[in-house]
Amino acid sequence: MKAALLVEPGRIEVREVPDPVAGPGGLVLEVEWAGTTGTDLKAFRRGHPKIPMPGRFGHEVVGRVGALGEGASGWTPGERVIALHSSPCGRCPPCRRGQTNLCDDFEKRLNLGAFASRLAVPADIARVYTFRVPAHVPPRRALFLQSLSCVVHSLSRLRLEKGERVLVQGIGCLGLLHALVARLQGAQVLLAARRPERRALAEKLGFEAVEVDDGGLARLPGRFGARGGSEAPDAVIDAAGTLPSWQAAVATVRPGGRVLFFGGLPASVSVPLDHPRVHYQEIDLINTFHYTPKDVSAATKILFEGNLEPERWLSDTDLGQLAGAFAELEAGRALKYAVSPGT
Ligand SMILES: [Zn+2]
Repeated sequence: MKAALLVEPGRIEVREVPDPVAGPGGLVLEVEWAGTTGTDLKAFRRGHPKIPMPGRFGHEVVGRVGALGEGASGWTPGERVIALHSSPCGRCPPCRRGQTNLCDDFEKRLNLGAFASRLAVPADIARVYTFRVPAHVPPRRALFLQSLSCVVHSLSRLRLEKGERVLVQGIGCLGLLHALVARLQGAQVLLAARRPERRALAEKLGFEAVEVDDGGLARLPGRFGARGGSEAPDAVIDAAGTLPSWQAAVATVRPGGRVLFFGGLPASVSVPLDHPRVHYQEIDLINTFHYTPKDVSAATKILFEGNLEPERWLSDTDLGQLAGAFAELEAGRALKYAVSPGT
């Protein structure tokens, strides 16, 4: 079968690889669509500590159940499912505390390789993190379950209250999902980004959107008063993931407000902190990583029962065009791709 390998940063090759075999309790998916994520883009751009090279990659997948492993039950060949890319071990101290997103074995339990014709899903993921896609849900919409689960987890850490004013920095897929879910939770959302076409997209979704200045600081509408002042946003979510955007978030939020760092920075980057502001103005700095089964369950409900239609943001491609698709993502000309195995 065909699979895309990330050989080195910037270089993807589609190769013939052996067909996967379903392990005990696991299954093999016939891939229909795989999704590109910000993590894949980072790996393509500069490598990623959790994605070995050269190696198969891609970790968002919707497909039909193919072969079942010995002892696998509850699945019917041919039915459409979405399988997430990791499962908590359930035994380590973080898992026992309920912080399964911080599982000590997280990296060992990743299931990469969605950019391919088929993907083996191990037993633990088949049991905990594989879901039937209801007939009324378009398969490309189901691709968003993983991203939406991260966003649900992220917002659970922020604990928004109804009516709070939130600035979301960065209008990519994850920034938009944060904005949509924060709005569902009753927040007043303002978005900020550099590119006019991204601001136009946010406005099309009914959001107020502003540009940022050369320092990455949002140009706040007048009702927010001075940046960092008492009328400034109650919370700032950084989904842009750059050093200037992290600093802008701290500089923009109101005293007593919260900053949520969603977009991570390269490991080599140190962040100078405006500590008098953070300390004397009681700015809470909140971080977030991954999701727990509870978040996935909430995200499933939103995606499968609600009226979000994030599949409208997708561009389509196939394995053979994957390198070109990443170049488009890198240039900011696409938000996210749905990748079919092709012929
Ligand atoms: Zn664990």
